[in-house]
Amino acid sequence: MLVPARPAAGWERPAGRPAGGRSPGEPPTLKDVTSVLVVEDDPQIRAALTRSLSTRGYEVRGSANGLQGLSILVDAHPDAMLLDLGLPDIDGLDLLAMIRAVSPVPVVVITARDDDDQIVRTLDAGADDYIVKPFSAKQVEARLRAVLRRARPESIDAAITVGELHIDPATRQATLCGRDLGLTRKEFDLLHLLATRRGRVVTKRQLLVEVWDQPYGGTENTVDVHLSWLRRKLGETATAPRYLRTVHGVGVRLVDPAAVADEQPDQV
Ligand code: CA
Repeated sequence: MLVPARPAAGWERPAGRPAGGRSPGEPPTLKDVTSVLVVEDDPQIRAALTRSLSTRGYEVRGSANGLQGLSILVDAHPDAMLLDLGLPDIDGLDLLAMIRAVSPVPVVVITARDDDDQIVRTLDAGADDYIVKPFSAKQVEARLRAVLRRARPESIDAAITVGELHIDPATRQATLCGRDLGLTRKEFDLLHLLATRRGRVVTKRQLLVEVWDQPYGGTENTVDVHLSWLRRKLGETATAPRYLRTVHGVGVRLVDPAAVADEQPDQV
């Protein structure tokens, strides 16, 4: 996956996130949140997508035309892109070809037509998936999650080792120094999700969406409670963290404590 650059001005922050970049030495925050570029000329659809994706913990930037969208893509390297085919300045499929010439970014196309020819041409032009209008926010987010998952270098079934921590989704077992942690189903899901994005901050809202499937319901307290149970089983606390690092006001990230020993500790 592309390493997202520091977001340019105009990114819609996930709900509850402070605006502004970080200076060197600060803990990772903004650049580690999944960013989505929305290229859609209909202002109402663009605003609705921006709102719903920000609510779900994504960092979103919109563009009303294709060429501006392409320039944002090149400058800001979003993690994924939603692309409307009917744009005022350029045919969406021509734009897709230009995108593919410069970037492997996962693209979900938004189309008003659901005929076979259109869909085949869209996929042939390099789209990773498509959504037919009208669509629900839930569907858009599910498609984005799927293309982002496929874009990740590791298979979701692959076992992951972070320091002395070993997480095996095939057996749903997590061990620390070879000792089974005895995690509950949700604790395992939470740890596994953080492990697939190790080193990166995952917002509590994203955890509610991806682990609990509750984009609107649910409270961050649910996440906090499970994180504290997980910490106890890992033999650590929020004030003396090892693997689970809280980034205050943003979320949490899983790290290899040996690899970050020299780092400034995250805010707790
Ligand atoms: Ca349009």
